[in-house]
Amino acid sequence: MIEFLNLKRVNAPHADAIAEGMARVIDAGWYVLGRECGAFEAEFAAYCEVEHCISVANGLDALHLILRAYGIGAGDEVIVPSHTFIATWLAVSHAGATPVPVEPDARTFNMNAELIEAAITPRTRAIMPVHLYGQPADMDAIHSIAAKHGLRVIEDAAQAHGARYHGRRTGGLGDAAGFSFYPGKNLGALGDGGAITTNDATLAATVRELRNYGSKVKYQHDLLGVNSRLDEIQAAVLRAKLPHLDAENRVRASLAAAYIDALQDSAVVVPQVLAGTDPVWHLVVVQCPNRDALQAHLHEQHIGTMLHYPRACHLQGAYADRPWPSYPVAERLQSDILSLPIAPYMTVDDVHVVVEAIRGFYR
Ligand SMILES: *Cc1c(COP(=O)(O)O)cnc(C)c1O
Repeated sequence: MIEFLNLKRVNAPHADAIAEGMARVIDAGWYVLGRECGAFEAEFAAYCEVEHCISVANGLDALHLILRAYGIGAGDEVIVPSHTFIATWLAVSHAGATPVPVEPDARTFNMNAELIEAAITPRTRAIMPVHLYGQPADMDAIHSIAAKHGLRVIEDAAQAHGARYHGRRTGGLGDAAGFSFYPGKNLGALGDGGAITTNDATLAATVRELRNYGSKVKYQHDLLGVNSRLDEIQAAVLRAKLPHLDAENRVRASLAAAYIDALQDSAVVVPQVLAGTDPVWHLVVVQCPNRDALQAHLHEQHIGTMLHYPRACHLQGAYADRPWPSYPVAERLQSDILSLPIAPYMTVDDVHVVVEAIRGFYR
């Protein structure tokens, strides 16, 4: 049996360090915005090679608070991928702004930079590329368009902890970035968590206030803030796991390389990697003819797979209030994509079992 993802196995190698961290928190008797949180912020900023990290309660809040801090809201438009997890869109909607979708390049799954300019209007304020499945977006192309039109670039880095674009880490590739530490992410807590990374000191100060009731000084509230903080316990868990993230990402890279190599000339289409990038393979997603039958076949062979994502954002009930044009690439992908098992505890032998089962289906 090869499960899609077993979080107990992901966390088992870290169990002792996590227990130590949790004991430190219990002992400190301080459970919100304390030493663990401050230490994690410094360590994650260093990891991402940026000046500032502000931890928050989850990835959706991270993205939403960046938009709010930049004053992006009612009447504004933000360019988002048509093919992404719904949180990218919800962050824009919750800020009061309007998500404007741009189709992906189906080879990499990331926003097709050639289509961005056609989506820009006088109301556009920002571009929010997603480093989907752990692969950095086409940032140079996105930056040149953003510079030409005076737009912010806000990275959705929720799937790309540690990925590099021309040598630089995600999280430092735009004005600001939002990360998620949801348990299944490459760096996952034992619950929800998120962070904002940036080199913009003004933005850092504003989101620091916004996440804590709009307050810099206790009981003095200058902004209409929210309660979105990373628990000390989760910060301690993340501190235990962060030193091993690069090694785990290297395992993911070797598994992904094995999948791509073994499936190169098969019925399924493997992802293409953009030149100059080091993806971290949060997911390995292939495009397959007869996807549902393949997924059922793999299930019978006790191989777990998932769909990321089975329905495009513009087709969700949450966005049914607007008449959308069709987004054919996103609409095709939702019926062709299949996410294969990948995790730091897996081996290349596991990959070959999955590949043989896929080849067996098409024979
Ligand atoms: C997980 C994820 C988010 C949201 O993170 P949460 O911590 O679940 O709120 C945002 N964007 C993408 C692309 C994600 O995968």
